[in-house]
Amino acid sequence: MQDAAASRGETDAAAAGGGDFRRHIPRTDAILSDPRLVAAARRLGPAPVKAAVRAAQERARAGGIAPAAVADTAFAALPATAGGLRQVLNATGVVLHTNLGRAALSAAAVDAVVAASGHTDVELDLETGRRARRGRTALAALAAAVPRAGAVHVVNNGAAALVLTATALAAGREIIVSRGEMVEIGDGFRLPALLESTGARLREVGTTNRTSVADYAAAVGPATGFILKVHPSNFVVRGFTSAAEVAELTGLGVPVVADIGSGLLASDPLLPGEPDADATLRAGADLVVASGDKLLGGPQAGLLLGDAALVERLRRHPLARALRVDKLTLAALQATLAGPVTPTWQALRYDVDALRERTRRVAARLPVAEVVRSVAVVGGGGAPELELASWALSLPESYALGLRRAEPPIAGRVEHGRLLLDLRCVPPAADELIVRAVSALT
Ligand SMILES: *Cc1c(COP(=O)(O)O)cnc(C)c1O
Repeated sequence: MQDAAASRGETDAAAAGGGDFRRHIPRTDAILSDPRLVAAARRLGPAPVKAAVRAAQERARAGGIAPAAVADTAFAALPATAGGLRQVLNATGVVLHTNLGRAALSAAAVDAVVAASGHTDVELDLETGRRARRGRTALAALAAAVPRAGAVHVVNNGAAALVLTATALAAGREIIVSRGEMVEIGDGFRLPALLESTGARLREVGTTNRTSVADYAAAVGPATGFILKVHPSNFVVRGFTSAAEVAELTGLGVPVVADIGSGLLASDPLLPGEPDADATLRAGADLVVASGDKLLGGPQAGLLLGDAALVERLRRHPLARALRVDKLTLAALQATLAGPVTPTWQALRYDVDALRERTRRVAARLPVAEVVRSVAVVGGGGAPELELASWALSLPESYALGLRRAEPPIAGRVEHGRLLLDLRCVPPAADELIVRAVSALT
């Protein structure tokens, strides 16, 4: 009988040999004709929708939900997009959170990405109909932002910019670097290992806390590819310390490459400790390496700026082809450089009184929440010592998992047994979502 029912396409419950109430579970094709699920299948593809329906039917069979709720349950379980990555509200108070994808793109950059996502003139001159330099307008925007740079190039990320530089300028030769600048950038990745993977040898000079110009000068020789200065962007060394400045290293007869990390193109009074590309080139660096998705607030990218002949060598190296950025990155980068201020810039400058007012308004709707002082930070992207006075909603720590499971997920930070939600990096339009998500858990 079960086989017969299955072959006639009757209820899945019958096919599964269910009892009476299970027969009422709607058939898969009937559920899939729900207009919301039809639209979802168009958006996400049929497979995830079918999987969600099957999972909801399973739950109904197990008695976990009512048979009539299968379509609703399946629909609720579907993601907003087919992209796999979900939008998360960053209430951590960490502006550039590596685990949350560092910088949030501006609306201008998002629009640019959407516009570039189909066929686009990334390598075509529409006037002449001929091939054009890939990403020329984004490169022009970067060059315009740092006029002191003789030329610019963009690769996949800061690490790729270092690999390209080391490969093109020092493979089989030496990179002179201070022992105080042999840093780990996160997730176990260490710059020395990255540089050595190119076939360059590291010539370590000085000590962890002190390195002088004389240390570098003594190491320079025929095997030198370049001197590397690395900005310690995620830690500080205090006390009996000294380091040679870029300006002191330019007279040694070899190129000076400066990895400034953060991606500031010009000085920012809010971040006096952060090096910027303009000042570093002014000090005499031949090449500056920086990231696109840290303080610059753009897409993941590695920026290379400096001496025109050196940049051309990098651009022409075969490895450059393997590290090139795609059209979406170029579009987002250009919009970040030329467009309005970025969410990163805004988050760093959020008026603390306005933030307090906003946090109070949200808290007033949530009996479980208090308003407390908080300290926000830049994050892995730079300025390790900068503390931004801030305010946060304080909730019992037990809310953390429920909020991470909310739609959209909300990521806060746990401090002294409380869950803090700092709204600095949360778009104001999302306050309502926070109120709803917290209320649903109360
Ligand atoms: C972040 C950082 C890097 C790595 O850049 P990615 O864009 O993450 O690849 C390298 N050097 C320094 C000093 C950094 O801060």
